[in-house]
Amino acid sequence: MGILPYADRVLVSGAGPVGLTIALGLARRGIPVVVVEQEPALTIDPRAGTFHPPTLEMLEPYGIAQQMVAAGIPVRTWQIRDRRSSAVAEFDLGLLADLTPYPYRLHFEQFKLTPLLLAALEREPNAEVRFSTRFVKAEQDDAGVRATVERDGKSETIDCRWLIGADGGRSGVRRAGTFNFEGFTWPELFIVLSTAYDFAAHGFAMNSYLADPEQWIAIFKMPGNGPPGVWRLSFPMDAATSEETALAPETAQALLQGFISRPEPYAIEHRNVYRLHQRVATDFRNGRTILAGDAAHLNNPVGAFGLNSGIHDAIALIDALDDVWHDRAGIEALDRYGAQRRTAAIDHVQANSIRNKRQLEEKDPDVRRRNFEHLQHVAATPELARDFLLNSSMIASVRRP
Ligand SMILES: Cc1cc2nc3c(=O)[nH]c(=O)nc-3n(C[C@H](O)[C@H](O)[C@H](O)COP(=O)(O)OP(=O)(O)OC[C@H]3O[C@@H](n4cnc5c(N)ncnc54)[C@H](O)[C@@H]3O)c2cc1C
Repeated sequence: MGILPYADRVLVSGAGPVGLTIALGLARRGIPVVVVEQEPALTIDPRAGTFHPPTLEMLEPYGIAQQMVAAGIPVRTWQIRDRRSSAVAEFDLGLLADLTPYPYRLHFEQFKLTPLLLAALEREPNAEVRFSTRFVKAEQDDAGVRATVERDGKSETIDCRWLIGADGGRSGVRRAGTFNFEGFTWPELFIVLSTAYDFAAHGFAMNSYLADPEQWIAIFKMPGNGPPGVWRLSFPMDAATSEETALAPETAQALLQGFISRPEPYAIEHRNVYRLHQRVATDFRNGRTILAGDAAHLNNPVGAFGLNSGIHDAIALIDALDDVWHDRAGIEALDRYGAQRRTAAIDHVQANSIRNKRQLEEKDPDVRRRNFEHLQHVAATPELARDFLLNSSMIASVRRP
């Protein structure tokens, strides 16, 4: 590649929530940005549904948090329960009301966040989103990057100063940039179902985790199409289950009837199946190519850290790239971004999500009993509950020194 007059812009691969947040932040700082998205429109995938306080604080300056709160369900108390006994540990985020204007978990679907971000981005004159455009590969030198994208089966090039891979777990940018993605894949499948049936009638908080040595459950009340909302339940399924069986209507019915048996069938509004991974890229930057969000790290959803931490990456990257772009800092600002966000991914997101999942699926009856005694003691002791909530709400992960 010869020396090119690279266009003064940033190219973002992926119009998911992380890519759109980065693009919006950069555009607002006066940095021209192009987003390429392989799909013809924003994807509608009921994945993330829980937003933690720091994420809402970070999205507030963009006017996005306010719209999320207006349409979402604030969940102040949430539970960890034993599916096999009456043990319940209930945590009240009101204990953190002195630390955040959002002392709750906000239940709001990820596919409703991306249209808010896109609408805000479309109002920025220096931002452009190209759908049906797939990032394929890139070449880079000290001055910029030349990316190859595919649109309508035709190859095009886009040159830019910086390339950001926010293109999810299967990130094309990560693969093209020879980043290592270290970690493991859980053997079991993970099924997500939703139904209008009201589990609050059985004493479940709008967010409840049920520990069980055979089949734990995560429960969320979601806004859905508006009041009264829908209940979303997630179950692990044996590794030997095929995706076809996992997605079969009778499997969904059996899972729900096995949880709370009713004479009539459950009306099931949607079902999805996922494979879960725990992986973190060894580096978040390679030359002028930078990773963020799921492209840089993946985790199981117990604790709801994935997208939240992706938005935290986005906000940190906007600051770092703004400083570098406007010559207020050298490239070390981007290395600081990578180091800080990688540490948060490993020390907080990986550690807590793995621990949370293992606690839910613990098989040893003595360990299970001790876990619950401990959780109930923590929940009932305000200073311990506050520490626990600082960690589970991700406030600790973003306010660390
Ligand atoms: C069942 C489940 C529940 C979850 N619940 C939560 C939760 O409650 N809270 C939470 O914080 N997280 C949760 N997560 C994780 C969350 O969904 C992800 O962390 C989040 O989607 C990451 O956003 P992203 O923008 O990085 O990637 P994505 O949302 O995957 O977006 C990537 C985008 O890039 C596009 N793309 C991919 N390849 C290319 C290419 N080559 N060229 C152009 N475009 C491309 C894709 O089409 C997509 O639009 C959950 C995940 C699962 C599976």
